Amino acid sequence: MVSITIDSTLTCPVCGFAENEIMRTDACQVRYQCEQCGEMLRPKPGDCCVYCSYGSVPCPPIQIQRAEAHVEFE
Ligand SMILES: [Zn+2]
Repeated sequence: MVSITIDSTLTCPVCGFAENEIMRTDACQVRYQCEQCGEMLRPKPGDCCVYCSYGSVPCPPIQIQRAEAHVEFE
Protein backbone atom coordinates (compact mmCIF):
# COMPACT_ATOMS: atom_id res chain seq x y z
CA MET A 1 0.00 0.00 0.00
CA VAL A 2 1.00 3.54 -0.69
CA SER A 3 1.06 5.81 2.30
CA ILE A 4 -0.63 9.11 1.66
CA THR A 5 -0.04 12.39 3.43
CA ILE A 6 -3.21 14.44 3.63
CA ASP A 7 -1.94 17.56 5.30
CA SER A 8 -0.01 20.10 3.27
CA THR A 9 1.32 23.55 3.99
CA LEU A 10 0.16 26.02 1.37
CA THR A 11 2.38 29.04 0.90
CA CYS A 12 0.92 32.11 -0.74
CA PRO A 13 3.18 33.27 -3.63
CA VAL A 14 2.06 36.86 -3.14
CA CYS A 15 2.59 37.52 0.56
CA GLY A 16 4.39 34.38 1.74
CA PHE A 17 1.74 33.46 4.28
CA ALA A 18 1.78 29.74 5.06
CA GLU A 19 -1.22 27.80 6.23
CA ASN A 20 -1.49 24.14 7.10
CA GLU A 21 -4.46 22.53 5.37
CA ILE A 22 -6.00 19.09 5.30
CA MET A 23 -6.42 17.91 1.71
CA ARG A 24 -9.50 16.19 0.45
CA THR A 25 -8.81 12.80 -1.06
CA ASP A 26 -11.88 12.66 -3.29
CA ALA A 27 -11.39 15.83 -5.29
CA CYS A 28 -8.73 18.26 -6.40
CA GLN A 29 -8.84 21.74 -4.96
CA VAL A 30 -8.35 24.24 -7.74
CA ARG A 31 -8.99 27.39 -5.76
CA TYR A 32 -7.64 28.58 -2.48
CA GLN A 33 -7.98 32.02 -0.99
CA CYS A 34 -5.08 33.30 1.06
CA GLU A 35 -6.28 34.19 4.52
CA GLN A 36 -3.80 37.01 4.85
CA CYS A 37 -3.89 38.96 1.59
CA GLY A 38 -7.04 37.53 0.01
CA GLU A 39 -5.28 36.40 -3.18
CA MET A 40 -7.16 33.65 -4.99
CA LEU A 41 -4.60 30.99 -5.79
CA ARG A 42 -5.01 28.76 -8.82
CA PRO A 43 -2.88 25.85 -10.01
CA LYS A 44 0.11 26.63 -12.23
CA PRO A 45 -0.06 25.31 -15.82
CA GLY A 46 0.41 21.54 -15.75
CA ASP A 47 -0.54 21.19 -12.10
CA CYS A 48 -3.89 19.70 -11.15
CA CYS A 49 -4.53 21.62 -7.95
CA VAL A 50 -3.24 24.32 -5.64
CA TYR A 51 -1.45 21.80 -3.44
CA CYS A 52 0.69 20.64 -6.36
CA SER A 53 1.63 24.24 -7.14
CA TYR A 54 1.95 25.84 -3.73
CA GLY A 55 1.78 23.09 -1.13
CA SER A 56 4.60 21.37 0.72
CA VAL A 57 2.99 18.07 -0.27
CA PRO A 58 1.25 17.37 -3.60
CA CYS A 59 -2.34 16.17 -3.63
CA PRO A 60 -3.20 12.53 -2.82
CA PRO A 61 -3.89 11.39 -6.41
CA ILE A 62 -0.47 12.67 -7.46
CA GLN A 63 1.22 11.00 -4.49
CA ILE A 64 -0.32 7.70 -5.57
CA GLN A 65 0.69 8.22 -9.20
CA ARG A 66 4.28 8.99 -8.25
CA ALA A 67 4.55 6.07 -5.89
CA GLU A 68 3.21 3.64 -8.46
CA ALA A 69 5.25 4.95 -11.35
CA HIS A 70 8.51 5.47 -9.43
CA VAL A 71 9.06 8.50 -11.57
CA GLU A 72 12.41 10.11 -10.98
CA PHE A 73 12.04 13.15 -13.18
CA GLU A 74 9.77 16.11 -12.66
ZN1 LIG B 1 -1.28 35.92 0.48
